[in-house]
Amino acid sequence: MQNKVVIVTGGGRGIGAATARLFALKGYSVCINFKSDHDSANRLVEEIKRSGGDSIAVQADVSQENQVIELFQTVDTQLGAPTVLVNNAGILRAQMRLEEMDAQRINAILTNNVTSYFLCCREAVKRMSTRYGGKGGNIVNVSSGAARSGSPNEYVDYAASKGAIDTLTKGLSLEVANEGIRVNCVRPGLIYTDMHADGGEPERIERLKSAIPMKRGGQPEEVAEAIYWLASEKSSFSTGNFLDLAGGL
Ligand code: NAP
Repeated sequence: MQNKVVIVTGGGRGIGAATARLFALKGYSVCINFKSDHDSANRLVEEIKRSGGDSIAVQADVSQENQVIELFQTVDTQLGAPTVLVNNAGILRAQMRLEEMDAQRINAILTNNVTSYFLCCREAVKRMSTRYGGKGGNIVNVSSGAARSGSPNEYVDYAASKGAIDTLTKGLSLEVANEGIRVNCVRPGLIYTDMHADGGEPERIERLKSAIPMKRGGQPEEVAEAIYWLASEKSSFSTGNFLDLAGGL
């Protein structure tokens, strides 16, 4: 039987870390990709290994083509070809209106949140697609409820980057539907992670939660469960689909 191998980009913290933990629990060999926070990624690898799992941490800036290629080559060598890719790594910048944004910021958002997903999808498809002799696989993209709300007065650039991920999911899912690969997407709402501090408002969920029908923010583990389901055989007839995890928002 083929070894179950997952790559979680941005897997050291937040939603990625919860996802890495869950896949390890389900018997996957887990590659935890990170950009700069060695400590969080290495701590998680140790935790997984202590529980009897198999995991490596691989540093790679997934917005950089050469580093994505090296990431996948490292996984090929150390864990085997990936059977699941979770495109999760993403960034957010300080809240502002669009007319205050410069090109450097907009490009950083787009390369980190969009180019990175395209590059990782490309490397995954080359390994998974039956077209190239692969045995199939699953890709789950982490988009955001922002793709639908547009995030006015906060970060329209971030929201637009997630809109691109929705379109990527739809297009790629159809491109590889007959090649053994399913491509699906989760769209989290307000989830308790460090990301809101990067947007300049660590307590953002407290300010906004009264507008959430369920009156609370979500936990990374609640997103991880949906990601796992979309990557599992339980969702075997689902591709090009979106699961909103936003407490009804
Ligand atoms: P987080 O806690 O800030 O974690 C982000 C992770 O992404 C970190 O592990 C970081 O690496 C990694 N990362 C960022 N840029 C990278 C790059 N270029 N290359 C490799 N790794 C990179 O964020 P989160 O809230 O868990 O977000 C995860 C995903 O969920 C993102 O795509 C985000 O847009 C989406 N999302 C989050 C929310 C929310 O409310 N939190 C809502 C909707 C969607 P280091 O650890 O090395 O810094």
